[in-house]
Amino acid sequence: MPSYVILEKCDGCKGQDKTACQHICPNDLMVLNKATMKAYNRDPAMCWECMCCVKLCPQQAMAIRGYADFVPMGASVTPLRGTEDIMWTVKFRNKSLKRFRFPTRTTPEGSAVPDGGFKTSPEAENLKSPLLFTEPESLRVAALPTLKK
Ligand code: SF4
Ligand code: SF4
Repeated sequence: MPSYVILEKCDGCKGQDKTACQHICPNDLMVLNKATMKAYNRDPAMCWECMCCVKLCPQQAMAIRGYADFVPMGASVTPLRGTEDIMWTVKFRNKSLKRFRFPTRTTPEGSAVPDGGFKTSPEAENLKSPLLFTEPESLRVAALPTLKK
C-alpha cells in the first residue's frame, strides 16, 4: 500500500529547498506543503512502495502499511537507517517485537570510488557507444565481439 506521512512527526525537513522524501522518491511523488510545512504523497496510486522515503526520512515520519498477507492488521514493519545498516523493527499482532539489523554497505562511508577505479576519457563520442563506460576493461577482455558485416 502507498506511503503516507505521519503529520505529527514531519517537520518539512526544516524548510530546506528539497526535502529528503522529495530527493529520494524515484517517482517524484512527494510534495511539501509550504503553508503547513508538511509533506504529502501527491499520487498514492503511483507509489511503488519501494520504502526509500521511509528509510530516508530523518524524523521517521514516512510510513507504509504493509499488505495483510505479510503485515496483518495490528502489525507493522519499520526500518531505521544507520550509516552501516538498517534496523528493522517487526511488531506482531500479539504485540511482540523482533528487531534485526541488515547491513547496507561493505566499505566505510565516503570511501567508495565513484568510477570504480576505471579511468576513461569523458569524450562526447562515447555516448554513442553501446558499451558501459567501464567496458571492456571491467569484463577483463581486450574487446567485445562484434557482428561481421
Ligand atoms: S523527509 Fe520526512 S520530515 Fe522531511 S518532509 Fe519528508 S516526511 Fe517530512
Ligand atoms: S515508497 Fe517509494 S515510490 Fe512510494 S512515495 Fe516513497 S519513495 Fe516514492
